[in-house]
Amino acid sequence: MKRKILIVLLLALGFMPSQGNAPGKIKKKKIIVLDAGHGGKDTGALGKKAKEKDIVLSIAIKVGQYIEKNLPDVQVIYTRKTDVFIPLDERAEIANKNNADLFISIHANSNKSNKPVGTETYTMGLHKTQGNLEVAQKENSVIVLEDNYQSKYEGFDPNVAESYIIFSMMQNIFLEQSLNLAANVQNEFKEKALRQDRGVKQAGFLVLWHTTMPSVLVEVGFVSHPEEEKYLLSEPGQDHISSAIYRAIKQYLAELEKQEAELDSGLETLSYSTEKSQAKDSLNLQGDESITFRLQITSSTKKVMPNHPIFKGFNDVFEFYENNTYKYAIGKSTNYDEVKKLQQSVKNDFPGAFIIAFKNNQKVDLKQVLTP
Ligand SMILES: [Zn+2]
Repeated sequence: MKRKILIVLLLALGFMPSQGNAPGKIKKKKIIVLDAGHGGKDTGALGKKAKEKDIVLSIAIKVGQYIEKNLPDVQVIYTRKTDVFIPLDERAEIANKNNADLFISIHANSNKSNKPVGTETYTMGLHKTQGNLEVAQKENSVIVLEDNYQSKYEGFDPNVAESYIIFSMMQNIFLEQSLNLAANVQNEFKEKALRQDRGVKQAGFLVLWHTTMPSVLVEVGFVSHPEEEKYLLSEPGQDHISSAIYRAIKQYLAELEKQEAELDSGLETLSYSTEKSQAKDSLNLQGDESITFRLQITSSTKKVMPNHPIFKGFNDVFEFYENNTYKYAIGKSTNYDEVKKLQQSVKNDFPGAFIIAFKNNQKVDLKQVLTP
């Protein structure tokens, strides 16, 4: 009987079975979205002969073929497989609505000078150099070919440097994972494909902006550099580049699988201790109307690992599931002012954090609770 109540309580709190790969659990297929940049009326960068849109499409398809041949547990989704124009926001939307685990946008670079050469991989963030900003401006400027781009991108002007300040304020909970993947890609390019390594960088790319999973944008080389253009147009060149991206993905997924196995064992402890404390609460607080407050710091459509850097320094992270979203809170007190103090003390790390209230283990409207 007691156990039944506990299960009901846990369900009420929204604890969901995890989908990891621990023994006895059903293995969920990973979904990877491959995004060949540009297409149709948008050619992307132009070399003497090369069109970015064609090079990146054939590389994306080759990456997909490697995955489909060698990783049966991975499903590949392409944003385009033909020469068509697709708005940037739709590309992210394809990844989001398919609940993808990874989003990889593939592009080729160009420069006014024919000297720059090599590959670089970007994650979403604020640029640190003028050069990185210029790459993002170039890739983002394609939105002017889209209908209603001003309203669609909230007035964002891709060519005005000040527009990019918004990317300094966003909180990217997938940054760490995105950086790991980006590092894998650059490492493979350098070690196996023997490309010039221009490094892992950050800048405000609109195509990555609204993705809700780890995501990177890969610049596979410069079509403005005569030799690199030839390489990127050649079959062996495209094979080297795409197999390097494939191996980087494979390493990333192996690492992720390891983390998820750890997460599964970690979660069992979490549920167990929750169950125990609930048992105590339900005995002591039967019919109790007391309110507890917590501070919600972030939310995600994907489960966030307990060892995620965002939680570093907090040992009281609380997860609950609501409206198809995992939500994460810290702190717990029946005293509102205490949680208010906590909100103040973490406001640099979590400027958007807000206080939430629970009554009888159900989330309740904070305003209602605070109105006497
Ligand atoms: Zn591009």
